[in-house]
Amino acid sequence: MKNNFKAILSKQAELFQSNQTKPVKFRIEQLKKLKALIKKNESLLYDALYKDLKKKSFEAYETELSIIYSEIKLTIRKLHGWAKPKRVGSGLINFPGKSFIIPEPFGNVLIISTWNYPVQLSLLPAVSALAAGNTVIIKPSEAAINTSRALALLINKNFDASIMHVIEGGIEEASTLLKLPFNFIFFTGSPKTGKIVMHAAADNLTPIILELGGKSPTIVEADANLKMAAKRIVWGKFLNAGQSCIAPDYLLVHSSIKEKLIKEIKDQLDSIHGYNPMESEAFIRIINAHHFERLDNLIDSNKVRIGGRTCQNELYISPTVLDPINFDDEIMQEEIFGPILPIITYDTLDWAIEKIKERPKPLALYLFSNTKSIQQKVMQEISFGGGAINDVIMHFANSRLPFGGVEQSGMGTYHGKYGFKSFSHYKSIVKKQNWFEPWFKYPPYTSGKLGIIKKILG
Ligand code: NAD
Repeated sequence: MKNNFKAILSKQAELFQSNQTKPVKFRIEQLKKLKALIKKNESLLYDALYKDLKKKSFEAYETELSIIYSEIKLTIRKLHGWAKPKRVGSGLINFPGKSFIIPEPFGNVLIISTWNYPVQLSLLPAVSALAAGNTVIIKPSEAAINTSRALALLINKNFDASIMHVIEGGIEEASTLLKLPFNFIFFTGSPKTGKIVMHAAADNLTPIILELGGKSPTIVEADANLKMAAKRIVWGKFLNAGQSCIAPDYLLVHSSIKEKLIKEIKDQLDSIHGYNPMESEAFIRIINAHHFERLDNLIDSNKVRIGGRTCQNELYISPTVLDPINFDDEIMQEEIFGPILPIITYDTLDWAIEKIKERPKPLALYLFSNTKSIQQKVMQEISFGGGAINDVIMHFANSRLPFGGVEQSGMGTYHGKYGFKSFSHYKSIVKKQNWFEPWFKYPPYTSGKLGIIKKILG
């Protein structure tokens, strides 16, 4: 296995060294090919996603394929501009000269991804990596085994292994890959594995991006539009059965409006999934028995306000709301990553902010409030990866926004221009003319020369 992985990486290194991946034309050809391949094989991917997560084609298109298509479309449209060397000022100190920033690909990129959006989280970073002129090896998650297989089948049959290749497997394969001398590693997964990846990258001093997770809070202030808040929270929390890294993990709700909000959430759930969400076309399943059991154990039956029904055979957990919850409860000790929504109440916003700040910096934070000063206060006082005011999740869908976490929730960003930037090294160049050279920079150092330098440099 090890030799095989090594051989594929060697092929990719050889291709990269030959400079073939560098022309923008070559990169655009790969992106067009990838898009055409996905388009032609949508049904293969839909089948795989259904087998892994019971994800229906509507949701698969909305949350996976459409995002890849629009990323490729934007990238092809903008790539010439992004990849062009940028001229910047040189300052008097470099007179007579010009200065440039030249984006260059790192080389051979490893992408390790996860199972919750297994197509999108494998291919979206690959789009940026290819756009920047790199080669790519993707290791999808073994937990979404059918999708992993479908990706391997599609990519490995249609792309030369020296450009892009999928290696299937789990921890063993990922660990073997992490020992190889890649030029860049992009990892999506848990903070726990993120630390292992960072250690492995340190051995080769390989640059990395870590897209991790954590508990993303949603604050609902007393002045929020509760009907709209409930609608959006229900959509974002129970999409993919809560198995989204940026799903609202828990609600922090002002005590004066809690009961009203719970009623709105119940009405909204009934209206989109009906009285028995198990029969709803649009409500998907938990990925595997391990996660089902983990989630089942987090449901405290004394605190169920909505839902709480489970079916092990079906790996089904109904949309569930728990209340009252406090920060010491078991459900508040780890990222939920499932369709369970705990509610914590607060009386003062300062207390809520303090509680969030005592914890690791979240990947996402959402605030429902119509008061500008409250919006400004929350945005200013709390550090988090990204988020939304009066909505959830939708910042992910705007490829003009960088996506990523901070500290425990990740490092580095991607999407659109930011993906291209992350997979590029920006090389700084000063180009000099030969007709003048400042004599005063050379020894012997005199007070006269120092006077000139001080004048120039201020
Ligand atoms: P995970 O860390 O267990 O697995 C992710 C990947 O790492 C898989 O491909 C797996 O094979 C590999 N892996 C696991 N253990 C490894 C090890 N010891 N050494 C090397 N590789 C290893 O995570 P998961 O359970 O698959 O995913 C859930 C987590 O991912 C959640 O925390 C979630 O928030 C996060 N996530 C983040 C984003 C994001 O964009 N920030 C997106 C989706 C999920």
